Amino acid sequence: MNAQSALPFGSAAVLGAGLMGRLLAVTLAQAGCKVELFDAGGPEADGAAARVAAAMLAPLAESAVAPPSVVRMGHYALERWPTLLAGLAQSVFFQREGTLVLWHRQDAPEAARLARVLSHTGELVPELPAMRSLDAAGIAALEPALGQRFAQGLLLPDEGQLDNRELLAALLATLQAIPEVRMHWHAPRTLDDFRPGDQGQPERVIDCRGLGARAQWKALRGVRGEVIRVHAPEVALRRPTRLVHPRYPLYIAPKPGHLFVIGATEIESDDMSPASVRSTLELLSAAYAVHSGFAEARIVEIATQCRPTLPDNLPAFRQPRPGVMQINGLYRHGFMIAPALLDIAMELLATGHSALASRFALATRLETLP
Ligand SMILES: Cc1cc2nc3c(=O)[nH]c(=O)nc-3n(C[C@H](O)[C@H](O)[C@H](O)COP(=O)(O)OP(=O)(O)OC[C@H]3O[C@@H](n4cnc5c(N)ncnc54)[C@H](O)[C@@H]3O)c2cc1C
Repeated sequence: MNAQSALPFGSAAVLGAGLMGRLLAVTLAQAGCKVELFDAGGPEADGAAARVAAAMLAPLAESAVAPPSVVRMGHYALERWPTLLAGLAQSVFFQREGTLVLWHRQDAPEAARLARVLSHTGELVPELPAMRSLDAAGIAALEPALGQRFAQGLLLPDEGQLDNRELLAALLATLQAIPEVRMHWHAPRTLDDFRPGDQGQPERVIDCRGLGARAQWKALRGVRGEVIRVHAPEVALRRPTRLVHPRYPLYIAPKPGHLFVIGATEIESDDMSPASVRSTLELLSAAYAVHSGFAEARIVEIATQCRPTLPDNLPAFRQPRPGVMQINGLYRHGFMIAPALLDIAMELLATGHSALASRFALATRLETLP
């Protein structure tokens, strides 16, 4: 993208070193910009939603809860991730083995409703590969351990996933290797701490603080999610598997080394307190019902975080004052759409306009930077 080599400014402060902040800091620095990155937490991204996420890249599966613009961004991002990852200092687990959707016999009506929604998405976003119906033999061919347990399923081909923690670490290592980057940990900042463009100040400030921006972006809310990481040497699953359920839909996202992320609850609440007994029981029982090998799994972590979300559940760019850009509202799709938001941000920073934003119907939400 030429926009990156044509930045009309030489220095930027990026607030928030979660998913969006790290991606932008790397891209700006690689484009020759002097970057200062500030985060309220430490380099392990302990305060970021990005650290606990499953990092599934599943635009068709997510279309059950996301509008076509988000689905299109997700499709775009699946193609962009390999290029972005290739520019990092460390390798990151990334795969596109598709998403498997399964249901127990009694939940067939719920599954039929979902299939209708996904089929409608296929009509609205025809560039997505079509879903495939599976019988037990088809499921067994993809995931040998599951064919005995499930009679029907869906494969959403080419959907992806990556390892969120490897990504955060690789972005950090990349930033550490660029001399023009300075990182400040345990250094919370607000927009009032900067006067972009003034003497001795960064020329631009980019706010990627997720829920940490709430004091200045009142419409933001948290959507609580609880996830469980288990180590399960007896479980072999190659791709993210989603269980359709009327009360507690579940996903199991495999990570390297027989680690599995089981999630996630979705509760309208800013509550960051530890996971409830009820959520933990539901997630673990549902996972055990998918694969009995989880019985002997070891629970490595039970984590809670809140997804930064705007009233319409869509991401947004904002310019509260000259020289300042805010990116927020990534909700439950941050990894799925971040490359699209990154490219839009770089276009905006370079030219004040973004053709890509119009393509994803985000144009009306943008104000141009001066
Ligand atoms: C349980 C769960 C599961 C998820 N699963 C998926 C998934 O499978 N696929 C997917 O695409 N997305 C998923 N997500 C969503 C994804 O994690 C988020 O959309 C994404 O992390 C948001 O990125 P962000 O950079 O805006 O915010 P964050 O990643 O939260 O980063 C914000 C950063 O700002 C810092 N900060 C806060 N206040 C300040 C301050 N005052 N000064 C400086 N720094 C500050 C924080 O410490 C943090 O590091 C999931 C989220 C959750 C919670």
